[in-house]
Amino acid sequence: MAITLGDCHFYLHMFGSHLFIDLINQARWRLFPRKVSFEEVRFLEQHFYYFAQLRNPHKREFIHRLETILSSKRFLGRGGLEEVTTEMELLIGATITMVVFGWKSLRLAHFHTILVYPNTYYSTINKIYHRGEVNPKHGLIVISWRCFVEGLADKSDGINLGIHEVAHALKLANWIQNDGEREFSPQAWKEYSKWVPGELAKVKSGQGTFFRESAGLNEHEFFAVALENFFERSREFKEYHAQLYQSLVQLLRQDPLVLMG
Ligand SMILES: [Zn+2]
Repeated sequence: MAITLGDCHFYLHMFGSHLFIDLINQARWRLFPRKVSFEEVRFLEQHFYYFAQLRNPHKREFIHRLETILSSKRFLGRGGLEEVTTEMELLIGATITMVVFGWKSLRLAHFHTILVYPNTYYSTINKIYHRGEVNPKHGLIVISWRCFVEGLADKSDGINLGIHEVAHALKLANWIQNDGEREFSPQAWKEYSKWVPGELAKVKSGQGTFFRESAGLNEHEFFAVALENFFERSREFKEYHAQLYQSLVQLLRQDPLVLMG
């Protein structure tokens, strides 16, 4: 079942078995581990704000986690994009690493392939243009590069396509029991869920002052938009709703305000 949510859609109830692909990916990762070079670290320092703000021990940990993620995922160009460049891989990989940085080794194993389109792309299934999507049946995260870069360019507007799609993937991965990974603590999810209906109602009624309108579509979109704000507007988010912010700190096992000094 394809669910269309404005510019973002994903599939439900179509979790195909991915174990075979994951086994191949793991073998490739062990045989050909991707190392991040000194120049690439410099590149991230300049272009990935979260990484640039981390303290040195966390930076080393981040690079190690990024190497694992880059080694275990495939990046494929689509829609006329001939090559997924190293910079694209690094920035998309860094976004995944940032969102799951609170876990010791989570890498969203189910989502083994990243498809990169140069621009928004037309879906023949639901006849609309997409900026990005996740597809759990095929283990895909799909990104429009132009929209991804626009999201990165303004690091404090709370709009970031990369974080948005990785948030969808993380929430879906939490439902997938056979991926060998444990995402959300049930207790933390319960605490987060306590605050969602009230905030959703506010956004839907047009009285919302913090989350943008598309957060009001449903709880999936709310979660994705909440994570965009959690990372890009941490301080404002905490001032707006400290309990909701804190519930996300517990859920994601990290506090950007502490990590980023
Ligand atoms: Zn979405």
